Amino acid sequence: MRRAVFPGSFDPITLGHYDIIERGLTLFDEIIIAIGINADKKYMFTLEERKHFIEESFKNEPKIKVMTYKGLTVDFCKKQNASFILRGLRNPADFEFEKAIAHTNRKMSEIETVFLLTSSGKSYISSSIVRDVIRNGGDVSGLVPETVLVK
Ligand code: ADP
Repeated sequence: MRRAVFPGSFDPITLGHYDIIERGLTLFDEIIIAIGINADKKYMFTLEERKHFIEESFKNEPKIKVMTYKGLTVDFCKKQNASFILRGLRNPADFEFEKAIAHTNRKMSEIETVFLLTSSGKSYISSSIVRDVIRNGGDVSGLVPETVLVK
């Protein structure tokens, strides 16, 4: 069983995340979308809302599970028996940031990080831009799955 964890804040889930998850499904038997709980971070959406948006987006996909976790991602992976971490790469800045994390995770465990390049046309999408548009009353259709729009 090839099980991967796709960790993130998902505040909120975007079509960029969605794209990586859908393409990840061709590589893995199961993907756990894992919402990290960080007490120091301020979120626009509550944990319950973020979880609900993701669950609704993938309600017809039996290979997807949505969970929340605290602490190190590698510890969560071990607990869930997942050998892979899935991450998306949008640009060189993502690469530099992700590289350091992946090396650190590899030092602490046997878990491999698998990177998928964002699809062209989705690389500019980020949760922070989506939050900005929402805060200013703009239209985020085309940036997020429909489940976020029905809020
Ligand atoms: P984090 O707080 O860990 O950065 P995010 O929810 O912002 O969590 O992102 C989770 C993962 O999704 C990261 O690997 C990030 O690079 C990836 N990601 C976010 N937006 C996109 C996008 N538009 N295309 C591809 N990957 C993306």
